[in-house]
Parts: sequence; structure tokens; C-alpha cells
Amino acid sequence: GDIAEGLTRGVETVTGTVSETFFEPTIRLGVTGLSRAGKTVFITSLVANLLNRSRMPQLAAAANGSIRSAYLQPQPDDTLPRFDFETHLAAMTGQQPHWPESTRAISELRLSFRVQPGGMIGGLRGLRKLHLDIVDYPGEWLLDLSLMERSYEEWAGEVLERIAKRPMAADFLNAQGAADPAAPLDEPRAQALARSFTGYLTEAREAGFSDCTPGRFLLPGDLAGSPVLTFAPLRKEGQMPRGSLWREMERRFEAYKREVVRPFFRDHFARIDRQVVLIDALGAIHAGPQAVDDMRRAMTDILGAFRPGRNAWLSRLLMGRRVERILFAATKADHLHHRQHARLAGIMQALAADARARADFAGAQTAAMAIASLRATTEDTITHEGHSLDVVRGTLLDSGRRAAFHPGELPEDPGRLLGPARQGADRWLDEDYSVMRFAPQPLALKPGEGPPHIRLDRAAQFLIGDRL
Ligand code: GDP
Repeated sequence: GDIAEGLTRGVETVTGTVSETFFEPTIRLGVTGLSRAGKTVFITSLVANLLNRSRMPQLAAAANGSIRSAYLQPQPDDTLPRFDFETHLAAMTGQQPHWPESTRAISELRLSFRVQPGGMIGGLRGLRKLHLDIVDYPGEWLLDLSLMERSYEEWAGEVLERIAKRPMAADFLNAQGAADPAAPLDEPRAQALARSFTGYLTEAREAGFSDCTPGRFLLPGDLAGSPVLTFAPLRKEGQMPRGSLWREMERRFEAYKREVVRPFFRDHFARIDRQVVLIDALGAIHAGPQAVDDMRRAMTDILGAFRPGRNAWLSRLLMGRRVERILFAATKADHLHHRQHARLAGIMQALAADARARADFAGAQTAAMAIASLRATTEDTITHEGHSLDVVRGTLLDSGRRAAFHPGELPEDPGRLLGPARQGADRWLDEDYSVMRFAPQPLALKPGEGPPHIRLDRAAQFLIGDRL
């Protein structure tokens, strides 16, 4: 007892969690993806389906009954917001189902299992406990990793060059051009520049650009309006005097790295064991080649965080720790008839392989699949102009109308979307591909309609199945 306690206390000063993992095994599951990728819906549905496991046939420990019970517990990190599971679930499963509020910042939820170990010895040993700590965080925050090894001068120079030709950057570039970086700091001017730059970032993000740093400018959480978020890239002209606008921006940029980016990577990212990266691939495919290219680049950037070898700063922080499994999941697969799911999964696999070819995930196991956390449609086959057509039916979010919907054919060969052959094309698939937004359905599936999710159980099996 005493020795173990002493040991625990000693270890606790180092990381705060090792002591737990000594005695009660814990998996930290990171859930990320760019804004609107489907993180909130995924976590809510995953937790609901782990609490009630009747619809998780592909999760072995659920199907064979070795999970004896699952329950929510207070999370280990007292200063992190709790993922608002109950409110989100009520939104999705109420009388008039609606989509929950999306992720704006980091949050956490602990789900604990009592598991009956398998095998002969297992049967004698009694139940063991496993904690699953789910950490939800915006993918935008991962992009900030690229700032850590840059000075303000380097970052500002790169950004100004990159955005020089982007139409949505025109207002900011004008304001930047009009500002004298050597003039003494004037707070209203600094704020106006930061506001204008944030406006540019927001538009760029909406247009599908993924290189939108600093990430917190888009999702500031409780830092909104604070000095660490009140800077913008300025050109440097010779020596910048002390007390100048440029020097102060430089100081704030360094504070942003030190006070915002570093703690996130150190306290949260570095502790993740398993990771799911959600991607709204259908949305990007619908938006066109430019958006798919950007999605691809964003994926590579996000994945940069999972190949620590490339970034010396991150390697030092991780001290050899690594993520063991990474799942790339295309969300909202219920927009497609299941006959096309294999094609969507193929596109995800090609994307992941592409990223993997450029990255060494340092031994992490990876998988790619197409999922729907909450099915908003049912499938049907109708006859249209003498042909049979696979459709999905659902309630349109905008009009409340019921509609049958044929989203067009995804190409059998993912190369048609991703390969060099389509370079230069602005649109594809002869515009026969379009995505509608469906409202969530009341959960009244008839027998034969399948579970209210698509492959969430497979996703869970890959992410945590080996530990259950
Ligand atoms: P977040 O920003 O990553 O937290 O994204 P959300 O989880 O809030 O999802 C964004 C939107 O995507 C939702 O409001 C839904 O419209 C849509 N969505 C998410 N998951 C699904 C799904 O499984 N099926 C369908 N049809 N739509 C989904």
C-alpha cells in the first residue's frame, strides 16, 4: 500500500495520469476533424450506442456480451469542459429531432466499462474496469502546429505571400498596406487589423481553404478579444523600433504560441492513445475539385501532427509517446445508397494512403471507412424513366419537405477524383452529384431498416475493440 501510494504520487507529479493507468486502464480517444465534419454527432451517437449496445453487432465485445456494463463517470480533468452528451442526445432523439450544436472548443467525457475477460483464466478473474476518455477538439487547432517552429517574421511573410491573390483577402491586405508597422502601437488599430484578418480567415475557411492559421481565430472559445488573439501578419520594413505596432504583434504571436498552442499540445494532444479524424468527404466532393484538393491538403496538414518525427518541437514534447491507432472516417454516408458506400470508402482509403505515403505514422495502425453516426435517410429503389434508380429518402433540413434523392454516381476509381487526370477541371461528374442536407429522423426504424447508424460499430471495433 505505502509503496504503491508513494510510487503513485511520485509518478503523478510527472504526468498526472500514469498513476491511473497503473491500476485502472484508460484509453484516451481523440475525436477531431474540421468544423462541421460531424464530431459532435459522432461522439453523441458513439456514447449512446456504447451505453445501449443492442445495435453494435460488429463490436465484438458488445456482440459476445463481454461488456457487462457501461456508464458515464466524472472525467479525470477537472478544468476541461465536459462534453454535453445529454443535451446533444436530447436534441437528436427528441420529439422533433434536430442536429446538436457543433464543437467550438475542446471538451471531454468519460465512459467506463465493466468487462468480463475472455478465456479460462479470464472467467476466474472477475470483472475488470476500463475507462474511455473521449476528447473532442477542433481540427483547426492542429494546424497551429506549423506555427511552433516559425518566428512571427517568417509566419507573417509566408501568409502575406500566400494570400496575396485570394479575393477574400483584399480588405485585409488593404488595411495591412495602409498600416505603418513601425508606428507606435495603437490598440484600436491593432484590433481593427486582427478583426479584418479574422474576417479573411472565416471567409477562406468557408471557401474551403484549409491553411487557416492561427486556428483559434476561427474558434476562439473563451479567448475571444484577448491580446493573444489580437494580432495579424504585418510586413517588416527594416528595423522595427521598440514599442512599434510590429513589435507588439510579434510579442502577441509568441504569446499565442506559448500560452495557447503549447498547452493544448502538451496537456491534451500528447496524451491521446487512439484518434479518429472525421472528414466530410461528400461535402467536399459536392463542392468541387478545388474543395477536394483543399480537403486533401488539410488532411495532410492535420496528419502532420501524427508524424512527430517531422517536427522537432513536437518530438520533444511527446517524448516517445505515440498514437497507436488512427481512423479516417468519411461521415454522413447516409447521403448515399449503400451500393455506393464501397466507393466512398475507396476514396477515403486513397486519401489516407496518399497521406500515409507522405507521412510515416511511426507505427500507428490506420484504417479508413465510410460511416454515418446517425442515419437521417432510408433507402429505396424506384423506377425512373424506365430505369431502376437507387435513392435515399429523408426530410430536407431547409424546407421540411420529404424527398427521394439520387446523389449521382461516385466514380469506381478514386483516381478520377484524386488523381492527376482531373487536374484543371473545375467541376466533375457532369454535375450529377449533389448533396442535400437532411434533418435527423425520429427514431422509429421498422424491422429490416437496420441500425440508426452506418458502421459506427466497425469504427468502435477498430478504435477500442482490442482493449475490451
Ligand atoms: P462538428 O462541427 O464536427 O461538431 O460537426 P457536427 O457533429 O455538429 O455535424 C455538423 C452537421 O453535419 C450536422 O449539423 C448535420 O447536419 C451533419 N451530420 C453530422 N453527422 C451526420 C450523419 O451521420 N448523417 C447526416 N445525414 N448528417 C450528419
